[in-house]
Amino acid sequence: MKAVRRFAVRAGLPESLAELGTLANNLRWTWHPPTQDLFAAVDPQAWEELGGDPLRMLEQAPAERLRRLAADEEFMMRVRAVSDDLRRYMTSDRWYQRRQEELTHRAAGDPSATRLPKSIAYFSMEFGVTEALPNYSGGLGILAGDHMKAASDMGVPLIGVGLLYRSGYFRQSLSAEGWQVEHYPVIDPRGLPLEPLTEPSGVPLLVHVSMPGGRVLRARIWKANVGRVPLLLLDSDVEENDADLRGVTDRLYGGDQDHRIRQEILAGIGGVRAVRTYCELTGHPQPEVFHTNEGHAGFLGLERVRELMAAEGLDFDQALSAVRAGTVFTTHTPVPAGIDRFPVDLVRHYFGGGNLLPGLDVQRVLALGAEENVGMFNMAHMGLRLAQRANGVSKLHGEVSRSMFGGLWPGFDTHEVPIKSVTNGVHGPTWAAREISKLLGESEVDSEVGLTGFQPVTDALLWELRCGLRERLVHEVRRRVREAWLQRGASALELSWTEGVFDPNVLTVGFARRVPTYKRLTLMLRDPARLKALLLDPDRPVQLVVAGKSHPADDGGKALIQQIVRFADDPEVRHRIVFLPDYDMSMARYLYWGCDVWLNNPMRPLEACGTSGMKAALNGGLNLSIRDGWWDELYDGRNGWAIPTADGVTDPVRRDDLEASALYDLLGSQVVPTFYDRGGDGVPGKWMELVRHTLASLGPKVQATRMVREYVESFYAPAATSAARAATEGFQQAKDLAAYRGRVDAAWHHVRVTDSELTLPDGKTPVIGERVQVRSSVELAGLQPTDVEVQAVVGRVGDTDDLLDVVTVSMKPDSDGTYVAELPLPHAGALGYTVRVLPKHDLLASTAELGRVILAN
Ligand SMILES: *Cc1c(COP(=O)(O)O)cnc(C)c1O
Repeated sequence: MKAVRRFAVRAGLPESLAELGTLANNLRWTWHPPTQDLFAAVDPQAWEELGGDPLRMLEQAPAERLRRLAADEEFMMRVRAVSDDLRRYMTSDRWYQRRQEELTHRAAGDPSATRLPKSIAYFSMEFGVTEALPNYSGGLGILAGDHMKAASDMGVPLIGVGLLYRSGYFRQSLSAEGWQVEHYPVIDPRGLPLEPLTEPSGVPLLVHVSMPGGRVLRARIWKANVGRVPLLLLDSDVEENDADLRGVTDRLYGGDQDHRIRQEILAGIGGVRAVRTYCELTGHPQPEVFHTNEGHAGFLGLERVRELMAAEGLDFDQALSAVRAGTVFTTHTPVPAGIDRFPVDLVRHYFGGGNLLPGLDVQRVLALGAEENVGMFNMAHMGLRLAQRANGVSKLHGEVSRSMFGGLWPGFDTHEVPIKSVTNGVHGPTWAAREISKLLGESEVDSEVGLTGFQPVTDALLWELRCGLRERLVHEVRRRVREAWLQRGASALELSWTEGVFDPNVLTVGFARRVPTYKRLTLMLRDPARLKALLLDPDRPVQLVVAGKSHPADDGGKALIQQIVRFADDPEVRHRIVFLPDYDMSMARYLYWGCDVWLNNPMRPLEACGTSGMKAALNGGLNLSIRDGWWDELYDGRNGWAIPTADGVTDPVRRDDLEASALYDLLGSQVVPTFYDRGGDGVPGKWMELVRHTLASLGPKVQATRMVREYVESFYAPAATSAARAATEGFQQAKDLAAYRGRVDAAWHHVRVTDSELTLPDGKTPVIGERVQVRSSVELAGLQPTDVEVQAVVGRVGDTDDLLDVVTVSMKPDSDGTYVAELPLPHAGALGYTVRVLPKHDLLASTAELGRVILAN
């Protein structure tokens, strides 16, 4: 028999244990060991069996047990202590409040001084906070979760906004043949740490979004508490919706383009409406800054344009100027196929009727997402056009993004493209093993600005700790291998061998991530004989744990998984290499804790940042990685190994051969010998030097607190400052900027540098450092001198006339109307110069912002 409907019943907690319910409903417990220990004490066995899910445990706890606990004086004292701690955590001033205080003090009434926003909305299609709220697929979602948690620890007033999926992402198992099988377990929000936003009467509040044909898509708003940060999740599965619209939030990254654009319309437009509702309901300040984590939620900018047009009487351009000032866009992929795009006709279908965003001309909407291919609407391009500030997620990815999106700023050198970078980070208290946190000083990992250094500890003690973590991983591997085989149809009788899988004393290498082609899951199998030799070395073996999900529609990825599974199924090696199905946060943490080496071999530069290696480093794991993403900037020669890349080799087969060979070489000649080189006490001294250096040097840099601080200082604060200026005096500045843009658009094609000359002193060959004068005449075509910046640019020239290593100086109008500048010659050798004209306005974040430049010719 199957149930026709599912429903959950919440067990009533005894009045005196109500605080336990409060603790379970704030996800801070997921990174707070004392709260976890308190839950474990309620029912140690159930806690273990339910994988540490307090709500489920409390729901199932026998009433008798709860009564007994309520009468237990000592237990009740612990409950009060932990509750008090949470209250303090929620209300005390933290880094952000202190920073705010400092800035207020310094600004002393100056209205244009930098301000920290009272509230920031952070939009993402996925949020990976805990496995108890399975609302993520991988790195992007977990990054969003870590961003919220670090913001909470630092007191940053963030509101998270996204969708709640009925089945989350899929769960992975394997067929007997090693083929990926997907399952979509249904999640009942009433069993999750979520509460619905309701009217005072208890009626759930719904957001409404218009669909074509006069239909309406409605969604409930659920709220999760991520420490101090509220996370609002929209859920379309409400009875008032038409059947097909109920399914809009059915699953993450499933369905066709039409399904996807509905999800993105709900996340972006519905998301803004949910934030408005939440703030009105609770008195929480309305966001001054909107941050879109990847382009998916980018329609949020259009909704805000609509709001300003309706409420403030602005026209489209004026509203756009105001919206851009307060928007931050983060791009996450350097893989063009990874960019979210829709057919233009599909966008027109939803936005064209005038119901979805009344007052917005669909042509203006389409122009925001225009790309080279006229039939496609590009969400990343829209993200960049709707945000005054944008960034990639590592230094290298910033560079790659500037070149990838450089076409939006024609005429500018790649380094001038206004896309910066903030290197991702990971939430220390979530990803560091408890033992490590203790060693590092709990308060320091838990502190608001990240870990600052670690306490003196002997090599022997640190090694013992690492061995303990490896052993815990080995047990988890055995448990999961056995379970996987039972699922693949093996009988328990034939599985005794799984008890001998892995060895707690063997060098353990981990490789776990999603399986898109560029991550090269099977690079390690390039030369199976060499891999086998490493695994089966009689004295100094290696063991390898592999995990990862392939997108359900990607048969190529599934075939790669099958290759690994088949290799690992071989009785000759199965005790040294395993593929563990269903990679998720609950598995990942064992891997990050226990692996000695974290392997990453993407096709450079396609890994935007990568964060799993950071989590390993936080636990003293050493990275063995291609210099891509974060590793490109943080590898220092003493914190792990860089796999040499065959940059420039265009044949991918040859490139894989070369890089795989380099990987085997490194493992065999450096990693393995260092690990097994033991002193008299059995401790590998040189290895421990690397571990120590990793903990001390990478520990602070890979933390999400460092990342959030950078976002606050370099993005949120400037955006809030610009947004406030744009809005003052009835949006006068936004109006000015829009009018200015209009004037520039009209005049620009007639602006010219009519004449320019560089004067060398005495006509002799000058020496480096000598001052020269550049003078130039400019036709402004009706623009005012204050509307433009005229620059002299001097640099090296090679065979082509391209200028390199340039020095740029601003030119000033002279009494005769020409522009003039003096500058010292920056280099020896062949130099060249040019003159250029750029738009200039107070509210532009950079002179490149409008993508307009006139060069002398
Ligand atoms: C950290 C993490 C990721 C992202 O790892 P990458 O190195 O960015 O590929 C994916 N899944 C899980 C479960 C993680 O914990």
